[in-house]
Amino acid sequence: MAAMNRLLKPSPISSSAVASLRRCLSTATASESDARLKSPSYSHGSLHPRADPKGRNVQWVFLGCPGVGKGTYGSRLCALLGVPHIATGDLVREELSSSGPLSHQLAEIVNQGKLVSDEIIISLLSKRLESGEAKGESGFILDGFPRTIRQAEILDEVTDIGLVVNLKLPESVLVEKCLGRRICSECGKNFNVASINVKGENGGPGISMAPLLPPPQCVSKLFTRSDDTEAVVKERLRVYYEKSQPLEEYYRNQGKLLEFDLPGGIPESWPRLLEALNLDLDGHEEKHSAAA
Ligand code: ADP
Repeated sequence: MAAMNRLLKPSPISSSAVASLRRCLSTATASESDARLKSPSYSHGSLHPRADPKGRNVQWVFLGCPGVGKGTYGSRLCALLGVPHIATGDLVREELSSSGPLSHQLAEIVNQGKLVSDEIIISLLSKRLESGEAKGESGFILDGFPRTIRQAEILDEVTDIGLVVNLKLPESVLVEKCLGRRICSECGKNFNVASINVKGENGGPGISMAPLLPPPQCVSKLFTRSDDTEAVVKERLRVYYEKSQPLEEYYRNQGKLLEFDLPGGIPESWPRLLEALNLDLDGHEEKHSAAA
């Protein structure tokens, strides 16, 4: 229990952890911020429609509540832009499924819907960036990081983020999406068995999302994330409003926030998101078979 409290407690970040993150990020990329300064077409980190999206080495962040689709849209954009999709939730899950010393404590924290300490997240992120660097990766879309103002300040100390995309959906949709989420243990893809139909409030448009069903070969291998229960999803949402929502103001003040209200499922939202980012798909789109 003492170990878990230590992990939960907001600990001061050691200067070596920040130095390690700085080292990884300084080699990750320099080109997008340079391009932003040079390009008159750059607005909110969007790309010139005729620019080859793969040459930009973007350094973007995806913000948004649990279940909103950060992983889905983040990974699609990464395939389009040729940068890695780095989701700290995945790094945490990899660590807790290993037999490493942290796995037991991390499982408890995640299953309570709490945040793990900044120190641990920074260390997992540094390791991930380091292994990417060894493979020649550059640029990134971060999903699930930063999640606290402190994490955002650390990120600002070590690199220049070009754009922060804030994905939004009504809370009732978020809960249904988390409860309907299924993951294939073999291919790792996310599916969703929920059929969502939420009426619009105060004259606003409603939202419908068709289920995203797995192909036959995945059906027998589906599992549900242990933190996708109603009580834990509600706690994750509470923690999000308390610790992560202030990041919207933080990045708005930096002029980097792009707000995006998802109009529905992937077929409606994906083209609109590309439009909002001024991304031209002609000749660049890659095929995607599955998403959350
Ligand atoms: P969500 O669907 O809630 O966005 P994620 O898959 O991003 O969930 O993260 C799963 C869990 O991993 C979180 O509930 C939290 O315990 C931990 N986690 C992920 N990223 C961070 C972070 N940046 N800081 C602290 N904890 C994190």
